[in-house]
Formats: sequence, C-alpha cells, structure tokens
Amino acid sequence: MTNIPNILLIYTGGTIGMVKDYKTNTLKSFDFEQIKQKIPELKLLNCHIQTISFITPIDSSNMNPKYWVQIAEIIESYYDGMDGFVVLSGTDTMSYTSSAISFMFENLSKPIIFTGSQLPIGDLRTDAKENLITAIQIAATHKDGIPKIGEVCLYFEYKLYRANRTTKVSAEQFEAYHSPNFPQLGESGVHLNFNKRVVSKIDQSKKLILRKNVNANIVILKLFPGIKEQVVKCILEIENLQGVILETYGAGNAPTEKWFINLLQNAIKKNIPLVNVSQCISGSVDLGYYETSSQLKEIGMIDGKDITTESAVAKLIYLIGVGIPADQFKKTFEIPLRGEMV
Ligand code: ASP
Repeated sequence: MTNIPNILLIYTGGTIGMVKDYKTNTLKSFDFEQIKQKIPELKLLNCHIQTISFITPIDSSNMNPKYWVQIAEIIESYYDGMDGFVVLSGTDTMSYTSSAISFMFENLSKPIIFTGSQLPIGDLRTDAKENLITAIQIAATHKDGIPKIGEVCLYFEYKLYRANRTTKVSAEQFEAYHSPNFPQLGESGVHLNFNKRVVSKIDQSKKLILRKNVNANIVILKLFPGIKEQVVKCILEIENLQGVILETYGAGNAPTEKWFINLLQNAIKKNIPLVNVSQCISGSVDLGYYETSSQLKEIGMIDGKDITTESAVAKLIYLIGVGIPADQFKKTFEIPLRGEMV
C-alpha cells in the first residue's frame, strides 16, 4: 500500500447518483464522471479516487447475477492496484448484491464497501454525501499498510455492517438497514470506530479467488396459513429447479400435514436442495426444537440457522454455480463461508 490509498468507486446506479431536474420535478441520473464537481468535499479526502460507472446505470430492482459478475470482474481487474473499493448501488437490492459479492470472492484482504442513499445526491436534505464520504474513508482506513477492513461491508447512516448480514427494513427512514443477527462492524461518530472483536481477520498471504459461475434457477417459497397443495406442488415441480428457500415460521416451523412433507421429501429425493430460513427478522432456525420442524429435519432439509433470506438466496445461487455435488450440498451450505451465519 502507498501512503495515499487508491480507492476505486464503482457506480452501478440507484438514487444516490441522481439529481432532481427542478423544471420537470423528476429524478435523473447524472454523469458520474462529474462526481467531484457534485461533491467537492471528495477532494479533501486523503486518497486518490478513481471512478468507473456502468455504461447504463440501473435501478437496483433490475439487478441480477449477470451484473454481480460484472461488479466482481471490475473489482478483480483493479484488485492489485487499488487499496479499497466502494460500490454505489440502489438500496432496494443492495443486501442481495453485496451478499453475493461476499461469497464470490474468497481470501479477500481489501475492503469492498457498498453504499447508496435514500435521497438523491442533488437533494438538499440528502443522506448521500455522508454515506459516500464515510464509505470512502472506511475503504481507505489502514494501519501499518494493512487495511482495517478486509471483507464485504455495507455502510449506511453512520453504521458499518457485514454485508451478508443485512436486510433493508425501511423505504422511508435514513436508517434503512438492519443487521438483526450480527453486531455492527463499526460506527461513524466524531471518530470512525471499528468493532475489532467482530471484524474478519485479514490474511494477505492467501491468493484471491473469484468464482463467478452463478446459477439462479432457484425459488423462494414463503409459507402462509392456508397455503394450498397445488401451489406447493407447482412450485416444487418447476422445470430445471435447482434450489429452494423455504421461508418458514418462527424457529423453522412448518405445517405437519402429510401432503406437505411428502412434496418436500420428493424434491429432496430429486436432489433439489431445500433451505429452511425463518420469516422472522431476527433469531434462528432450530430444527427439531418443535414437533413442527422435526420432520423437516428427518427428511434432510438444510438448516439455514440465522441467515437472512437475502444472504441465503446469494449463497444458494453461488453454491449451485460452484457445482457442489448433491451428497455434499447440505453440509457445505450449513458451514459459514463468509461469516453469514453462526
Ligand atoms: N429504487 C432505487 C434502487 O434501488 C432505490 C434506491 O436507490 O434507494 O435502485
């Protein structure tokens, strides 16, 4: 690392890069190359900032695994020359994207900080400036040439989170994200404070690995009281289905009706991995704790423990893409890969 850190700012789209056209009252993307003009404060930061933007910035509702690969490839190609990365994204699917990037890179030893904003950068009351400036500062923070953060994080409204532990909880509040099952990694106040106890350890001796073969032939099946056999059957029999996230109740509970268990069992027999993730915002699946989950355990459902749905989606898409053999899939999924579960 040089004395002045090099930071790559990657703009993918979203509200953060928009300005209001006061004549028409609509939000428009602005040319991101002009970012330093829009935020002159960036020049005051003690780092070199290079920017790169998607040719056509996207609303994050249009985000998909192809774009995940694009982000990962940009990071990979600049990895050796940069000290840290800040990815600007729309907030709607930022937890999915950042979780996916966390799985796709193994042996990361430099910070990748995702951020965005609730209000456009050109808005008078915008939260974009603070989010962007502090995200860059975090990406540039180092001690004795070693970055303080070497994992994929999400920074928003004064808080730094492990990205694959986050979930978007508000379309209104500036505090749009929570990390319900894992403490925050840092906080921005008068000083930038990191929670060293929980930040991932960095090992610079290991070579960076990027796995970008992702496979999104999966489905999320959210249970609700009264769900019909026909519905579950249709979903589990989707052609070429390769993975299912079953959003269960409470500590991983589901109906005990025979038709339901049989349908799940048939899917597992066809080597379709079924991951049990709770609908609850916090807490963990505890398979077998209640009678209503003991059959799920017996038929070989994967225990999603305290993973978020966003992270489970990203992990499933990643692991199917990696091509983990069917007989090892359950065991592999249940091991935390990047601190995403206990
Ligand atoms: N719809 C926008 C997006 O996710 C919202 C935002 O950027 O906050 O791209």
